[in-house]
Amino acid sequence: MFIAHLPAGYLLSRPFARRNPSQARAIFGIGLLCSVLPDFDLAYFYLIDQRRTPHHDYWVHTPVFWLVLAAAIALLLIATGRRNQLVLVGVGLISVLLHLVMDSIAADIRWLFPFADLRVNLVHVQAVYKPWYLNFLLHWTFALELAIWLVAGQFALRDFRARRAIGKEAARAAEPQAPRTPA
Ligand SMILES: [Zn+2]
Repeated sequence: MFIAHLPAGYLLSRPFARRNPSQARAIFGIGLLCSVLPDFDLAYFYLIDQRRTPHHDYWVHTPVFWLVLAAAIALLLIATGRRNQLVLVGVGLISVLLHLVMDSIAADIRWLFPFADLRVNLVHVQAVYKPWYLNFLLHWTFALELAIWLVAGQFALRDFRARRAIGKEAARAAEPQAPRTPA
């Protein structure tokens, strides 16, 4: 997918943040970062690899890498008595896996690498237009991406209004009470 990773990460992080209000900021931070983290390999793709290998073939676009990394971090947290941060590892891992699921729609992802070379690519976007990105922008899957943005925007707006209402309520409660005139 092209532009929907970030709002999808928001939608995924939201229920975890609501269940763990004391860690809500960290959960949203990790969830949003990890929802786009695999695509940081584009820097390597353009700057170092000179576009020789499709960036979905790099190891940061394989689930096994992230599963091993998350397991290692989780073990470290358990060993150091920081189990309360395990939720962050869980959110990060699920966000990355969601990224790979979404990439599997229009790009091929090697879900079983390095054990098998199975490639999952649900929809083949034909190269009809130039420049290349128009093929994605004018494909029906882009409507799906816009729909994800709309749903995430709706929830974000609702959360923003709820937070503002709580803030006003708190400000009103903190206002000094007018002294009562004696009867
Ligand atoms: Zn990607």
